Amino acid sequence: MSILVVDDSFDSRLLVRALLKDQGYSDIILAESAAVALEILRSQPTDGHSKVDLILMDLVMPELDGIEACRMFKQDEALQDIPIIMVTASSEVENLERAFAAGAMDFITKPLKRVELLARVRSVLKLKSEMDQRKSREEELRSLTSLDGLTGIANRRCFDEFLEDAWHQALGNHQPLALIMLDIDFFKMYNDAYGHQAGDECLRKVAKTIQSIVNCPFELAARYGGEEFSVILASSDAQYAAQVGEKARIAVVGLNVPHCRSPILPVVTVSVGVASIVPSLQSTAQELIKAADDALYYAKQNGRNQIRIASEVKG
Ligand SMILES: [Mg+2]
Repeated sequence: MSILVVDDSFDSRLLVRALLKDQGYSDIILAESAAVALEILRSQPTDGHSKVDLILMDLVMPELDGIEACRMFKQDEALQDIPIIMVTASSEVENLERAFAAGAMDFITKPLKRVELLARVRSVLKLKSEMDQRKSREEELRSLTSLDGLTGIANRRCFDEFLEDAWHQALGNHQPLALIMLDIDFFKMYNDAYGHQAGDECLRKVAKTIQSIVNCPFELAARYGGEEFSVILASSDAQYAAQVGEKARIAVVGLNVPHCRSPILPVVTVSVGVASIVPSLQSTAQELIKAADDALYYAKQNGRNQIRIASEVKG
C-alpha cells in the first residue's frame, strides 16, 4: 500500500509524510509537482493493479494546480481509479466544488490536523479497497460465466454476445463479418474407442489449437457445443476466413492425436464450414450461422477433414 503526496511546499510534504509514517503507513512517495507525480504514476507497473492507492494533492501549486492535475488523472484510464484527497489552504466553497467536479473524492484543509488527516486517509483507503475487491469479484464472475468449463475457451453465451456486437458493428460500418464452424470428425467413435476422459482431453487439445490461431480482439474462438467449435472474425471476408479455417484444420491434423476408428486418417481431424455476410437490416446473424453450418455439413458429406465455403450470404 502506498500513498503519493503531491505538494510544492517542501515543509508540507515532510509534515504529511511524518504524520502518516507515525501511523504505520510506511510507503510514502513525495512529488513536488503534478508533472513529477504523473511521471511517477506512469512508471508504475501496468498490471491493472495500481501501486499507488491514494493521492494527497495540494490545491495551490505553480504551473499545474491540484484541480487541473486531478482532472487530468481522472481522464487517464490507467490512473482514474486512484482516489484523490485534495489538500487546500482555502476552504472556499468554490474551490471545493471545482475539486469534486474534477473527480476528487475528499478534501482536507491546511493547516493539517493529525486526527483529521488520518481519519480521511483511513476512510478513503477503506473505500478504495472495497472498490478493488468488488472489481475483482466482478471480473472473476465475468470470466466464470463466459468461459467453457471443460476447454477454458469462450463458451456459447460469450459467442452469442460477441456475435451480436460484431453484427451491429459490421452493420454500422458496412463491413463483412465471417464465421467459421469446426466439428471434430467421428468424435463419437473416438469416445467409444478411448473413453470419455480421453474424449475430454481431445476436446481441450482441439480447443487450444483453434484458440491459438485467433490472436486479435476482433476475433473470438468459442466452443459452440459438444464437439463443435466456432470462430467469429469481425470485419473479415470469406477469403480470409477460409485461410484461418484451413490453418485450423491443418493444425488439428498436426496435433497427431491417434484416432484408430477414423476411416479417413489415423489421427483426429476436423471438418470446417465458412460463411461471410455484409449485414443489412433485412438479414440476421442466424442466417450467417446457418450458412456456416450448411457449409460444414457439405464438408462432412464430401469426406470430412476439409473446408467448405458458403457462397456469400445475401445481406
Ligand atoms: Mg501549495
